[in-house]
Formats: sequence, C-alpha cells, structure tokens
Amino acid sequence: MSDRVDIAVIGAGIVGLATARALLLRDPTRRITVIDKEATPAHHQTGRNSGVIHSGIYYKPESGKAAMVAAGRNDLLAFLDHHGLTYDMCGKVVVAVSADEIGRLDALEQRATDNDVPVERLDRAALKAREPHIEGVAALLVPSAGIVDYRTVCAALVEELTAAGVELRLGVTVTGAKVGDATVTLATDRGRLRVGSIVNCGGLHCDRVAAAAGADTDGIRIMPFRGEYHELAPHARHLVNHLVYPLPDPDFPFLGVHLTRMIDGSIHAGPNAVPALKREGYRWRDISARDTSEIAFSRRTWVLARKYWRKEIGEIHRSLSSRAFLKALRRLCPELTRADLEPSASGVRAQAIAPDGTLLDDFAFADSPRAVHVINAPSPAATASFAIAATVAERHDRALGL
Ligand SMILES: Cc1cc2nc3c(=O)[nH]c(=O)nc-3n(C[C@H](O)[C@H](O)[C@H](O)COP(=O)(O)OP(=O)(O)OC[C@H]3O[C@@H](n4cnc5c(N)ncnc54)[C@H](O)[C@@H]3O)c2cc1C
Repeated sequence: MSDRVDIAVIGAGIVGLATARALLLRDPTRRITVIDKEATPAHHQTGRNSGVIHSGIYYKPESGKAAMVAAGRNDLLAFLDHHGLTYDMCGKVVVAVSADEIGRLDALEQRATDNDVPVERLDRAALKAREPHIEGVAALLVPSAGIVDYRTVCAALVEELTAAGVELRLGVTVTGAKVGDATVTLATDRGRLRVGSIVNCGGLHCDRVAAAAGADTDGIRIMPFRGEYHELAPHARHLVNHLVYPLPDPDFPFLGVHLTRMIDGSIHAGPNAVPALKREGYRWRDISARDTSEIAFSRRTWVLARKYWRKEIGEIHRSLSSRAFLKALRRLCPELTRADLEPSASGVRAQAIAPDGTLLDDFAFADSPRAVHVINAPSPAATASFAIAATVAERHDRALGL
C-alpha cells in the first residue's frame, strides 16, 4: 500500500463509519480511507448489540452522553428515513418490580424530565394493559425508544462513503503509527501507509492504537465486559410487546438484563456483564494470555473487583447457570420457563477504566499530534454515533488547524 491519503479512520464500526462521513461533510474534497482488521464492517460491538435506539433518560443532564444521545438520535433517525431503512419506535417500559423500587422509579422519572425526554407513568393496571405478561407495581413508558439493526445502518454508511470516493481497506490490521511533522506512517500487516492524520475509532483496541500513535490518554485502558444473551423461542415471543427493562442498579454501570424485541421479530433476553478473558472473547473459552494477564496484574482490576465483587459473582453465576439467568428474567416475566429460552450470540463492550479503577461513565476523546482518539464509546454510542462523529470531526479539524 503506497498511495497517499489525507485521513485514515481506524475502525469500521458505526463510530468510525459515521466519523468518516462527518469528516467528508466538512470537506468533500478530502481523501479518506477507513481501515478495519475484519473482512466485514460492524463485526464487533456494532454488529453484536441490542439494537436499541436509546431515548436518553438515564444520563446526567450535563454529560456528553445526554447531549450526544439527544442530537445523535435525531441525526440517526433522519439518516434512516433518508435511506429508507427499517426501524420501529416501539417504545420501552422500565419496570419497578416491587414497592421498594418506587423511589428509584421516581428518581428516573425526574432524570427523564431533566433531560427533556417525555415519559408516562404507568400503574400496575396500565402496565398490564400494555404488557400482559410482565409483572410490576409501576413503570415508566418511554415512547421515544426504538429498535434498528445497526448492521444495516453501517451498510448504508458504507454505500454512501464508497459512492463519495472513500476507500474501505478491510482485513487490514494497524500495528503501529509513526508520527512525523506533516504525515503519519501507519504500519499494518499489509505494509505501510502514509496519511496526513488518523482518527482512532478502534473500539475494543482503541487504547492500544492510541498508545501506538504516542497518545497520552491519562493511563486509561480498555476493560472488556461480555454481554451474553438468550433468545425467546418462537412460541414464547408473544410474552413481550415492547422493550422491557428493569430499573438500573445505581451502583452498577450496566442497565441490567432486559427483554428486547429485535427488528427481525425475535426477542433477546440480556445482556449480562461478565469480564471477558479476551478483548473479543465471545465465549468463556476465548482466552488471550496477553489480555488476561493485563487484566489480572493490573491494580485497577483489583480496585474494581473490590467495588463490584458481589454483583460480579451474581453476573458470573447467571452466565454459567441458565437456571439463574432464567430466575433473573422471571422477576420481570414470571411465566417464562426453561423451554422458552434458547442460547444466542454475545457481544463484548469496550469499557474504559482509569488508573484508579474508576469506570469512565461518559464518552471520552483524546488528541495527539496529527490524531484524534475515541477512547470511550460504550452504550449508547450506537444511538449517539452521528453526534460523536460530528464532535470527533470538529476536533480533528481544530487540532490540525483546518
Ligand atoms: C452487548 C452490547 C449491547 C449494546 N447495546 C446497545 C444498544 O442497544 N444501543 C446502543 O446505542 N448501543 C449499544 N451498545 C453500544 C454500541 O454497540 C457501541 O457503543 C458501538 O457499537 C461502538 O462502536 P465503535 O465503532 O466504537 O466500535 P466497534 O463496533 O467495536 O468497532 C471498532 C472497529 O475497530 C476495528 N479495529 C480495532 N483495532 C483495529 C486495528 N488495530 N486495526 C484495524 N481495525 C481495528 C475492529 O475490528 C472494529 O470493527 C451495546 C454494546 C454491546 C457490546
């Protein structure tokens, strides 16, 4: 590979593809290439998620997540309409299963109001009318939540990008980056590529790509958390109409196992959150010596383990025992039986963790000479991807004085 490129975007997940588009919207004359080590786009987080278009009820009002979900979902919906892609704003319910959860439901309702997201309070009878098979004392109905297949969004992005002259280099792994005065020389497993600048949207590997480019990311590392799903057998799909969520545990950074209608009509139950022993470890038996030893010997892991060990033991138990997974689901849907659950594919979240063991909650970015790095883009980054992309493109041009 020897041809000259202005900007190389590393990563053909939804954040990388949307960023290439945003860079092009700012200057259509740029020569952009998108590089991914996999043979197809959206191969990792983007292609293995719950497919939810989030409404933005959970996030601190002043956070980047709150702002970018609000802006990003509007841009996403406009993109879906423009390309005639299938999506369904089916709404979701967040359920208080018992009376002692009402205080948390109140707090979430207030948070939704603070974020200007309309919600409707449902009592037990109103919940039953919408979701006859779901058990709860009260719920919030969030009409602005929806579903889409993010792989189809990526396919449409690829179509737009290639039509505009962007080259996708798939099956190419970036292994290093040498930053010069006016160029960056990328080392890849297919040879060198000289580019004007790079944008790192490497997801589960973004910290390593950033380190290779000499970026200072304040010691932030990626910790992989697998999210495992089951699927409802076709005969049990009638048990769920909407997306059905439990109330999030305020002491745990993930949303809790929920029931999600997918755009193909299937219903997914999950994801849980267990440590993955490999960055792209989709099963317990996927183990990387490098990734595992990095996790095991890092002080931050032990800080994290001290904080969450009780919850993680529960998560691991539910991962290893489908009976325990079912028990968690039956809190929401007591009619479910073992015969209703089938195993399904899992995803791995790229969760950034600071040296002191804090899990980064908000989206995070870093600059280094001739480079911008997306260093934390966990859920709801698919929903927010178009706003993240606009932020990154703006940041890139500012950093390069363009
Ligand atoms: C289980 C799960 C459920 C989720 N549910 C939702 C949801 O319902 N709604 C929502 O909005 N968000 C959800 N998310 C979050 C969302 O999917 C991610 O935040 C989003 O997809 C991140 O996109 P990305 O492009 O940053 O990362 P990815 O999609 O992981 O893309 C990164 C790409 O970089 C490539 N790459 C990495 N290193 C290199 C290298 N060295 N050289 C070349 N290529 C490289 C990888 O191959 C990969 O294709 C979920 C995530 C998970 C895991």
